[in-house]
Amino acid sequence: MLMGKWVGGCAFLFSTLGFGLAATPAQALEAPKFLTHRYPFLFGPFQKLDSGQPWAKAQHAQLLVEQQPEIRALLQAEPGRQLALIQGAEYEGVQTYKFQDFVEGIEVLGSQALQHEGPAGMQVSHSMEPVQITLVPSLTTGEIGVLAQTLGSNRPLEAEPELKILPGKEGQAARLVYLARLGAAQGKPAVDLLIHAHSGQVIAELDRIRDVHGPADATKKPSTPSSSRSGKKAVPPTDAPSKKPVQAKLKIAPIDILGANDECQQVGFGGMPEKLMLRTCEKLIVNGKLQKKADIASKQALLNSQKTLEYYLSKHKRDSFNGKGAKLISVVHAGDGMNNAFWDPENHFMAYGDGDGETFRSFTQATDVAGHEMTHGIASDTAKFTGMGESGALDEAYADFFGKLISGEDSWALGKTLYIDPKAPGIRNLKNPNAILTRFKDEKTGKFKPYPAKASEMIAFQEPCNRSNDGCGVHVNSTVISHAGYQMVQRLGQAKAEKLNYLVLTQYLSSGADFKKARNATVEACAQLYSNADCELVKDAWAAVGL
Ligand SMILES: [Zn+2]
Repeated sequence: MLMGKWVGGCAFLFSTLGFGLAATPAQALEAPKFLTHRYPFLFGPFQKLDSGQPWAKAQHAQLLVEQQPEIRALLQAEPGRQLALIQGAEYEGVQTYKFQDFVEGIEVLGSQALQHEGPAGMQVSHSMEPVQITLVPSLTTGEIGVLAQTLGSNRPLEAEPELKILPGKEGQAARLVYLARLGAAQGKPAVDLLIHAHSGQVIAELDRIRDVHGPADATKKPSTPSSSRSGKKAVPPTDAPSKKPVQAKLKIAPIDILGANDECQQVGFGGMPEKLMLRTCEKLIVNGKLQKKADIASKQALLNSQKTLEYYLSKHKRDSFNGKGAKLISVVHAGDGMNNAFWDPENHFMAYGDGDGETFRSFTQATDVAGHEMTHGIASDTAKFTGMGESGALDEAYADFFGKLISGEDSWALGKTLYIDPKAPGIRNLKNPNAILTRFKDEKTGKFKPYPAKASEMIAFQEPCNRSNDGCGVHVNSTVISHAGYQMVQRLGQAKAEKLNYLVLTQYLSSGADFKKARNATVEACAQLYSNADCELVKDAWAAVGL
């Protein structure tokens, strides 16, 4: 069996009838019902399972999950609450099944139950919370549609708004919300709005793309480190990600590099492309072969893609972002002087800006940033983070961590090679997060706050989560977790730390995981891979960031 290959991706609902009685295998093995037509966005188009998939195992996993006392109590408290299998995966002998939580057929965002089987035995974890709210909205889908379009400067609705449940955190009540998806228009990119189903209040306005830093960062001068924290000391060799080249010829997935031009993009807000129509972009490199118009940016993008594919295939036996050898497409010269790079999880490609030529060079110059974006491609196929707050910050943190390892550079500063000023500290620093300032000011002192190195230094944000507050801190608070990654490399060595973090990212996190859950998931995953002594070191690494 291919390691690290997703075997699911489609949704079956197994009956949870008879729950609370002694569940018998006969009840658990009731024929699955297809749910995909009701949840097109969550699960994508229905795919038939490959033949020979261990369905009986998945069904057994569901039975075990539903018998876990906390999950059992939550399911019993609400008769309409059910779990549906959404993913199955295997890596390093650890098999995982993930189940999505629904109440009366309404998806509970980020709420999942996970079952793992490996050398350390069986583990069940979950991110479920009590829901117990009325599921009848005050506002109709029609009213929400009009409201969403008005709020979104008349961008078109892509589909009828869908009801979702947004779980409450730390004892807060859950909220009934609508997810309204707006397409790109008026110079603005596609966004997903979460709107309260009773008050019509906007809770979040989330970009669908995953970029390397927020838009306000992109148009300002780089922040400067305070002199006492500039970390100018030479980085000792043991401290840096391994520089070893990836070994010998691997058969990596095909790579295309396209060039954005007026034909294939309309430039919108902040120099970002409003939309990229890949078919009409110029073909610069096709299946790794240089075409006539191949330029320096496209060749650099080709090298970045090769390095990323080779890293994941050689270290984790993962074939491309989807684990199935999908072609890796990148677009260079995206936008107009765009000071950013992004991964588009809907259309599965990465895009590089050329930079403004004053602060930034072409974003193709940074392999760590390219590795960051392509790691978002893996995350959007596995953990599927919800994209705001701590869950979104986990997405950014794992992207930074693997981006640095893919680059093999002797430094933990991300994107340093992008800056024209050689003294610029980079976008983020995994070794010393405090060395770089965010764009958010301390209200009392009027000074820019540094990126946090531990949980107690995190920057708090108020809803709605949107571009102006970095989706409630997805980039700015990510350094707590990426610094934990750095701490694990120091204690365990790179080989063990990267395997562990890969297992956590692809199999141990629910889409709505927060920092605490990520810490606990890492300790659990460690038990499957390594000795108690190693896992004590992992706990120490997380303690160093206050988790
Ligand atoms: Zn990112």
